[in-house]
Amino acid sequence: MAIIITDECINCGACEPECPNTAIYEGADDWRYADGTDLSGDIVLPNGKAANANEAHEPLSDEIYYIVPDKCTECVGFHDEPQCAAVCPVDCCVPDPANEETQEQLMGKQKFMHNE
Ligand code: SF4
Ligand code: SF4
Repeated sequence: MAIIITDECINCGACEPECPNTAIYEGADDWRYADGTDLSGDIVLPNGKAANANEAHEPLSDEIYYIVPDKCTECVGFHDEPQCAAVCPVDCCVPDPANEETQEQLMGKQKFMHNE
């Protein structure tokens, strides 16, 4: 499942540079599928969602750092454990029960984002 940042986040910024998928954004910043990935132009995600990779999307939080669920692979394909959770000083990067995925789905997302 994807990782989610809870409202206990203290905005330290430690997690953002650790994410291999650029799935973590500072509060109030726009996000894009193309950021830190090989995606560009019109895309269809492995979950069937159509999007434009270069289009800027509204922030998921205006107050704290946030994770884009479609871009988070739980670090599968890069690391043995979620890097955001490993560095977070207040342990507020936790599994998101609303976005449960299998290991195969997570690997599929990683390949989709980085092997075009
Ligand atoms: S678990 Fe990994 S891929 Fe997901 S947001 Fe954290 S660092 Fe990024
Ligand atoms: S490392 Fe933790 S406290 Fe720091 S910005 Fe990321 S989620 Fe927030």
